[in-house]
Order: sequence, then C-alpha cells, then structure tokens
Amino acid sequence: MARITVFDTTLRDGEQSPGCTMTPSEKLRMAHQLEELGVDVIEAGFPIASDTDFDAVGTIAREIREPVIAALARATAGDIDRAGHAVEGARRSRIHTFIATSDIHLERKLGIGREECLERAAAAVARACRFTDDVEFSAEDATRTDLDFLCAVITAAVEAGATTVNIPDTVGYTFPAEFRDTLRELVARVPGLGGEVVLSVHCHDDLGLAVANSLAGLDAGARQVECTINGIGERAGNASLEEIVMALKVRADINEHFTEVNAEELYPTSRLLSETIGVMPQPNKAIVGDNAFAHAAGIHQHGMLSDRATYEIMTPETVGAPPTQLVLGKHSGRHALRHRYEKLGHDLTHEEMAEASRYCTDLAERRIDVTDEALLSILRRIKGGEGGAGESRGVQGRSADRVYR
Ligand code: MN
Repeated sequence: MARITVFDTTLRDGEQSPGCTMTPSEKLRMAHQLEELGVDVIEAGFPIASDTDFDAVGTIAREIREPVIAALARATAGDIDRAGHAVEGARRSRIHTFIATSDIHLERKLGIGREECLERAAAAVARACRFTDDVEFSAEDATRTDLDFLCAVITAAVEAGATTVNIPDTVGYTFPAEFRDTLRELVARVPGLGGEVVLSVHCHDDLGLAVANSLAGLDAGARQVECTINGIGERAGNASLEEIVMALKVRADINEHFTEVNAEELYPTSRLLSETIGVMPQPNKAIVGDNAFAHAAGIHQHGMLSDRATYEIMTPETVGAPPTQLVLGKHSGRHALRHRYEKLGHDLTHEEMAEASRYCTDLAERRIDVTDEALLSILRRIKGGEGGAGESRGVQGRSADRVYR
C-alpha cells in the first residue's frame, strides 16, 4: 500500500477562480479546517500577486502547524524571493515554482525558446533551495509539451534540487490512458523521479476527467495528488479532493493507494467553503452535493428501506454528511411514505395510505417539497374526513425550487 500526499490548492488555484475569492481571514479559517481534514500540504497562495496574498500566506504559515505550507512562484527571482519570505514562519515550508513548457505557451505567452525555458527552470529551483529544502517544480501545460523536451526540463529541475516534480494537465486535455503512458515514460527516463523525487499530478476538469486522470497518475507512480475542495479552480475546476479521497477509500479492494485524510471532515469542509465563497456545489455533485445521498425513485427507496447497501456504496456518515434522505416526490412509492409516517409516530390504514399518497403526488407534481409538516397536515385532513384529492391548500411545504448562487 502506498500513502498518497494530498496537496490541497483550494486557497490558490481554487481561490483564483471566478467568484471564489477569499479575504485573508477567510483563507485562514479554511486553512484551519484543511488542517482538521488532515491534508498533507496546503498551497496557501501566490505571494507575488498582491500584498494581501503575501500577508495571508504569511499568517497561514505561522498559524497552521501540521501540514506543509506551500507558496506559488513563477520561475523568476522576484517571485521566488517573495514566496520564500512569505512561508519563512512555517514549521515546514515549500516553494512551488513553475514555468510553461509547451511550445504554444513558450512562443505565444512567454516569448522565449526551449533553451531559455530550461535555464530558467533550473535557476528558479536552485534559488528556491536557498529558502527551503522542500522545492516543487511544475511544468505548466505539461500534457501538451513535447515529451523529449519535458524530460529535459524535469531532469534539469531535479538536478537543480527539486524534491517534488508536478505534471499539470493545465488545460484539462489529457485522457487517463494517455496520461498514464506519459507519466510512465517520465519515470523511466528521468533519474530519481518516482523514487526519492516525488511525482505529482495536477489535473483540470475541462473534459470532466480530472479525477479519472489523477487516479491514472497514481497508477503510473505519482505519490502526490493536487486537488481542491468541491473541485473549485480555474475554468471547469480542479480534481475534487473529496472524490479522490473517497474513490481510494471505497475501492480499496482494487487499488494500492490510500490517504490519511479524515473522511468525516469532508462534508463539513465542503460546507465551510461553500458558505465562505457563496458558491454551492451542484446538487448532484459526488460526495458533497445535496442529492449525493438522496433517493427519490420508489424502487430505490424500497431497496434502501430493506438494506441500504442496495443503493449506497458508502454512507453519508462516512463523509460527515447529514443522514440519507428518502425524498417524497413524484416518483417515490408507498414504502417510503409509510416509513416517514411511522417515523412521525403514525401507523396509517390501507385507505389512509392511499389517500395520503394522492395528496403527496399532487404536491410533488407541483414541485412542492413534501415536508413533515405537510404530511401531518394531510393526516389531520384525512382523519377529519375532509378528504378529496386535489385540494391541498394549507399543506404546502416550501417551494422545491432551490436557488443556487
Ligand atoms: Mn491549475
């Protein structure tokens, strides 16, 4: 079994995405929660970007003691010195320096050739080593970089002292099998990589493959995975931390990797982030979405009431989420309705059930949530003999049309 280093970049890649900005005190609060969650590395920010971010990284470095605190820097002396100073109060600090290596980035963005890229990469790593013995190098846009050149840059970074080499799929372009092949090639060709030099992956979700690509990276020898809470990050976001952690945990039977993240803190961490930035994950988001442990279909509800393993591969309790919900709606059946009434302390006759079911279907078809209050109100009506399907004013719950910012 191989222990995977969980590198959380919620406060850097995540924070720099639209609508996800955080103040320094919000970043600090999130950092405390990430420590609680048990991540190994917190990338706290990009200190050259602003004085505010420099201060935020500095505060996190001084206050958060357990994880390694990393700061991002382009491959320039100014960036590296700024990052180095920002994390100097950390118990364990890391400088993460990067330079783009694909031809399109070199030509169109940096306006330099491959030779200069190579020199800058080595010089940046060497300079970062003056501040800390934990230096990570990333080849930006690695998955669109010529493989021979990628090997050359990484070899130069390793020779200059990099202790972690990160291969980012910056634009979310690669496929699991392709990524696995690329990484295996790098491990075979770059001395030390995958051994004393940790191989890392950083995947984006432009094609919805970030988590799958990250897992493929682990198969190829990566021992660090970069990810964010709720998968926030540039464009379509980064690989989602909670999905990677739970994939490795739930399918421990078929993989040899594990993390030391406290799974029960996944949901609380997700909620804290959502409340902080005001952006909720979509309802069907794996692990932490509102519907991740909700069952609406009658057949599924029947199965769940008999044995939850019929439709649950993990329990909400494992990730610290609220209990499983059997949602009473248009597609739910009598089993779930009877179960809810029993929980409310009422055992309905066959006729009462039939009547209650008609009321509930009517509410659900009008997209009104069937709340406990609504169920009790329906029952009062039935018992009071005012029955008759269709007339359900006074038993409405709140609107089911939830608003997601
Ligand atoms: Mn990124």
